[in-house]
Amino acid sequence: MSSFHLPPSLSPLALYEPIASTWTGIVQSYSPATIEFAGTLIVQLIFFWGPCAIYLSLDRLFPKFSDRHKIQPAPKQPTRSEIFHCLSVVLRNQVLSSTLHALLIYVSTKTGKGAFRVDASIPPLFEVVRDIVFSLLLREALFYYSHRILHHPRLYPKIHKIHHKFTAPVALAAQYAHPIEQIVANILPITIPPQLMHSHILTFWMFMAYELVETTTVHSGYDFFMNAAKMHDLHHEKFLIYFGAIGVLDWFHGTDGSRMAAKRKAKGAAAAKGITQEQVDAIMKETKSE
Ligand SMILES: [Zn+2]
Ligand SMILES: [Zn+2]
Repeated sequence: MSSFHLPPSLSPLALYEPIASTWTGIVQSYSPATIEFAGTLIVQLIFFWGPCAIYLSLDRLFPKFSDRHKIQPAPKQPTRSEIFHCLSVVLRNQVLSSTLHALLIYVSTKTGKGAFRVDASIPPLFEVVRDIVFSLLLREALFYYSHRILHHPRLYPKIHKIHHKFTAPVALAAQYAHPIEQIVANILPITIPPQLMHSHILTFWMFMAYELVETTTVHSGYDFFMNAAKMHDLHHEKFLIYFGAIGVLDWFHGTDGSRMAAKRKAKGAAAAKGITQEQVDAIMKETKSE
């Protein structure tokens, strides 16, 4: 029986070797500081600004397709001038992120303690998977709790209200935020986890690329990728549900939409009929087991 073989040009080894030798060449030609700064900026340009441009152009290039896939109706969508204003704020946040990154690289170069590893070799697959899984889980916790704190009545009007201006978000609105929110909820949850693991810079870039595509997609306002934007779109529309990205902590803390709705329903029924707390608990139990 003959076995199936990939053509040599398509085998993983054929892809691995040119990538590995190109990477080694880059590490031998530039300083770790230059690689970290320029590479991170390139990843942001491709994986944040790229998807933003694609999602925003759908409306103009394919209006019928765009209308069919928009989660919220046309009257709720932002105007062109609101999108241009959003662009100016997001550009300012990009400058803020890059300036802080340059400062951090300067300090770590002086102290000789780089946040990421800029090795000439490519990281092993096991290490990449381990660091990315750890980073995904820790990012969820950091994002969920910082986001919930930003919804505190004392902080919300001064900081997070800006991000909620877009009740029907567009991709670019992912980074439409107060500078403090940009640092606390957007930059740190993505950069702290791989720094704790002292990850290879390539692993950090892969993780960041995923997170940037994820955040533009969940803010896109479109039902693509099995309606991946649904939860965060609902957060923008209704405010006090779905604070996280993956959904695990929303489930754990009861801030996922279904349980909040069930709670409200039970409280409403109790108030209307004058029933006891035990009966409310029984309704909640029933709703959970459905
Ligand atoms: Zn948002
Ligand atoms: Zn929020």
